[in-house]
Amino acid sequence: MTDVLDIAILGAGAMGSLFGGLLAEAGHRVTLVDIDEAHLNAIRAEGLRLSTDSGSRIVGNLRACRPEQAGPAPELLIIFTKTMHTEAALASGRHLLGPDTAVLSLQNGLGNVERIGRHVPHERIMVGMTTWPADKSAPGQVSSHGAGVIHMMSADGKPHGHLRRALEALNSAGLNSIADPDVWPAIWEKVAFNAAMNSLCALTRCAVGELANVPDGEALALKVVAEAAAVAGAEGNAFDEARVAGAVRFALVHHQAHKPSMLQDVLAGRKTEIEAINGAIAAAARKTGTAAPTIECLLQLVRLVDARGPS
Ligand code: NAD
Repeated sequence: MTDVLDIAILGAGAMGSLFGGLLAEAGHRVTLVDIDEAHLNAIRAEGLRLSTDSGSRIVGNLRACRPEQAGPAPELLIIFTKTMHTEAALASGRHLLGPDTAVLSLQNGLGNVERIGRHVPHERIMVGMTTWPADKSAPGQVSSHGAGVIHMMSADGKPHGHLRRALEALNSAGLNSIADPDVWPAIWEKVAFNAAMNSLCALTRCAVGELANVPDGEALALKVVAEAAAVAGAEGNAFDEARVAGAVRFALVHHQAHKPSMLQDVLAGRKTEIEAINGAIAAAARKTGTAAPTIECLLQLVRLVDARGPS
């Protein structure tokens, strides 16, 4: 039988609420920690409304609070803020970091270990990537459809007890998690995909399928993937470029109406995660002397959109 864990989710928006809801349903003691008062109030008043392929239901056995109200320190802290909010969240939730608290990031982008590492000892950080999707449709309401996986590992690559316990907890909630020694190529694959699809859709305001309206859309996306593959290879994290190119082509045909999160952020006038995605690849390209002109150009254009703010 899986041990019951005390788990805090720092950043309980779409993904954090999905994970928190599923972990609470599996019997873990979960606290959702966020700064979105409307979302917190809705969960406190009526529970979390969760809609997945298993149906729509209300998860009631959750605590929901602001960082300063949360505590005591949990065994597992899962960070699901957007990447640019990680450090502020960890600073205001520093009392959640006890001597035995392990911290897991499944956020998109690169640099998550470095950001968390400024607040948590390296040996207690776990990092990974997930293909589970989630949407927050209204305060207190989160949905996720289809199946996903989690590939994760300790940041120092060692088989710590907290890695095993986190995997057991996530799997008890049906989240299909594995310890993956090749977690970095897996993270890079997702970063490469996101660098292509998120930035192109955010700039053009096209849904994914609309990128295929002219051949340039697919060509640009594949160029980004090829550049990211060259940078990852130069860093020692070579990934299967053909697999990511295949995922891009699949998305163009099968996820036509999907609006990637970066496009949703632009449409809502929110800052994007461009720095952790195209920005981090461009930085790695400069460090390794690898050419990534398309990624660099898309980065500069999204920065302009970010700087303009709500329209
Ligand atoms: P989201 O915007 O829905 O949720 C982020 C939450 O963090 C918000 O509720 C926000 O209020 C909260 N937050 C911001 N600053 C905070 C602070 N200082 N303290 C506490 N909470 C704070 O974002 P999301 O879609 O859930 O994505 C979270 C991360 O997961 C991102 O890195 C994203 O790229 C990644 N991701 C998302 C998906 C998806 O399908 N949504 C899939 C895989 C990975």
